[in-house]
Amino acid sequence: MAEFDFDLFTIGAGSGGVAASRRAASYGAKVAICEGSRVGGTCVIRGCVPKKLLVYAAQYRDGFEDARGYGWDAQTPAFDWPSLIARKNMEIDRLNGIYITMLKNSGVTLFESFGRIVDPHTVEVDGRRYTARRILIATGGWPTKPNIEGIEHAVTSNEALDLPTLPASVLILGGGYIAVEFAGIFRGLGADVSLMIRGEHLLNGFDDDIRIALEGEMTKRGIRVLSGTRPTKIEKTADGFRVTDHHGQTHDVGLVMAATGRHPNTNGLGLESIGVTLDKAGAIPVDEWSRTSVESVYAIGDVTNRMALTPIAIAEGRALAETLFNDTPTRIGYDNVPTAVFSIPPIGTVGLSEAQARAAHAKVDIYKAGFRPMKHTLSGRDERVLMKLVVDGETQRVLGCHMMGMDAPEMMQALGIALNCGATKRDFDRTIALHPSTAEEFVLMREKVPDPA
Ligand code: NDP
Repeated sequence: MAEFDFDLFTIGAGSGGVAASRRAASYGAKVAICEGSRVGGTCVIRGCVPKKLLVYAAQYRDGFEDARGYGWDAQTPAFDWPSLIARKNMEIDRLNGIYITMLKNSGVTLFESFGRIVDPHTVEVDGRRYTARRILIATGGWPTKPNIEGIEHAVTSNEALDLPTLPASVLILGGGYIAVEFAGIFRGLGADVSLMIRGEHLLNGFDDDIRIALEGEMTKRGIRVLSGTRPTKIEKTADGFRVTDHHGQTHDVGLVMAATGRHPNTNGLGLESIGVTLDKAGAIPVDEWSRTSVESVYAIGDVTNRMALTPIAIAEGRALAETLFNDTPTRIGYDNVPTAVFSIPPIGTVGLSEAQARAAHAKVDIYKAGFRPMKHTLSGRDERVLMKLVVDGETQRVLGCHMMGMDAPEMMQALGIALNCGATKRDFDRTIALHPSTAEEFVLMREKVPDPA
């Protein structure tokens, strides 16, 4: 008889858990996975995928408006939120089904229920206990709400993707990825939108020029940014909600959304009882091989708080399967990870921001191009693009590429390859431009921005 029921038992069937389990099974491991919510996890069910579908929906407004400059007698038609949400849900159901089928076709045993760790080799699901040589925690994260009076009246991104009706006005608390993406969605679909941020600008951690440029474009679209402002109280009113801020001002809106970060899902897993260490944020610290403080227990993805991005969770999961079940020790790199913010207009970025580069390198060269994209010469839209290269002044290696404007996310994937290959500014310069495009500006920047005094 086998020593264990399974070689690997994964808790959490999101992007990371599914990737690890399928890759492990492909190497002949006997694998089980359990999921207490819906198979697919944050990205597929209530994150990247539904969010991006809603961003597409919101972008149609620009399409209808811009078409007039191109000779189309276009009127902006009425928009129907319930029909969008129903169609979005059909697509999410389809993907959920595909994930389940993929797991089954890979030979992974799926339990659609919560799992709890009983001991370092045992997981309990629905009152039954299963033993496993190794346990993988891939339980992801969950939205965090600020601790203020009346916060129960605020929705999070989870509910915002499934509202029964589109509110006439929305106040979003926070200014990170989720806040600016939902601001673009709600504004594009017709709501009045405000963002309340405690800092001076949106998107802490992103390159400062890019953050400020996005804020300018969002403001032009009528989104209000209430900077240096904290909410203190939310009350229900006859037709919506009243938010009081720390200046004593009140804001009456139809919906309050908290987009104030996410926390790792570790509650109720039984981690403390078997000695898995948690950090102050409740995340599971792991080493470069995704090992926790308990030898047979591993963790990947958002629950480890390394880099909360779907492709990172997938890469961590696959690397773990290679290491444990294919005799190929594999670690992933966290440098030059391209990311996008699907705001309207979007941001794409890879590598170091100017501030990060200046902190790490003695001499940094900056190149910038800001212009009105060709599309808007005829559309008449007052929207600009900003592109920026951050270069090591000594080696001429390109350290960071940043862009705010149409198609920025699509460009960053390819620029990530260039940065991973160690491309220098000279390599960018000797690449022939693709004309006419916006992307060509990345190989046409000549003038260095003067060094700061
Ligand atoms: P972020 O960490 O990006 O942003 C959180 C925001 O909330 C910040 O503006 C922060 O302010 C603010 N905030 C935090 N606590 C409070 C508080 N108590 N009161 C008021 N404001 C507060 O979190 P998100 O929830 O937007 O996203 C979580 C993660 O999910 C991201 O970091 C990203 O890794 C991932 N993600 C990726 C996406 C993509 O790749 N396109 C899309 C969505 C999410 P401050 O800046 O001052 O700290």
